Amino acid sequence: VSPQEAILSARGLTKEFFGFTAVNSVDLDVRENTIHALIGPNGAGKTTVFNLLTKFLTPTSGTITFRGKDITKVKPADVARLGLVRSFQISAVFPHLTVLDNVRVALQRKAHLGTQFWRSSRVLHTLDDRAHELIEAVGLAEYANLDAAELSYGRKRALEIATTLALDPPVLLFDEPMAGMGIEDIGRISALIKRIARDRTVVMVEHNLNVVADLCDYVTVLARGEILAEGDYETVSSDARVREAYMGS
Ligand code: ADP
Repeated sequence: VSPQEAILSARGLTKEFFGFTAVNSVDLDVRENTIHALIGPNGAGKTTVFNLLTKFLTPTSGTITFRGKDITKVKPADVARLGLVRSFQISAVFPHLTVLDNVRVALQRKAHLGTQFWRSSRVLHTLDDRAHELIEAVGLAEYANLDAAELSYGRKRALEIATTLALDPPVLLFDEPMAGMGIEDIGRISALIKRIARDRTVVMVEHNLNVVADLCDYVTVLARGEILAEGDYETVSSDARVREAYMGS
């Protein structure tokens, strides 16, 4: 990926915790409308990079650019307004509201976010039409009137994705979206993320390498806070250094 094509970039991204360098001078370019995975053995620095990109952590040094704008010093809420949204943390699910009401609440929140920089909806919908559309998109149509608390784990996460999509962000970041899911839910969420990424950009930390192989267009492999390899899954998975890093973990 060349820096010109990137929607989200990092240069020299470094994070030290009390003198320990968790992320060391990482350069990253995420191309628009792709699914970009961050992988690597435990302790590689994936979560730290994720938190730096979403501005939940401030880098010790380095810069982050979103759509050509330096966002290194922008607050997380303002980054979300620019269209860079982290799923799950921002999209609380209310257990005692129905699936439909959860999505309605999220759609109303979008208005409050003041997302004037985001692309406008292609079609004008009423809020309810849009809510039903989102529920359908994440495969929850038949559960629309069920309380969120009664959903299975995988379907709860699907609802979280629906409430995040309600914000209609051009860039979504997922921290292990499939964690704790069974094979059926993994299949459903994978298909959903594929659909999301047709006209959006997705960055995800993912442990399950089968999911990465199936879903991701581009993979950045981290180890000990540095980039070990990058490219498509086939390229990085056949890299001897990557194999060695995984075997040692
Ligand atoms: P990964 O997500 O790849 O497992 P992390 O980004 O969570 O890796 O952690 C990278 C390294 O930074 C680890 O050695 C971890 O112990 C350390 N680390 C992460 N967060 C903190 C923190 N808040 N304080 C001190 N050390 C941290």
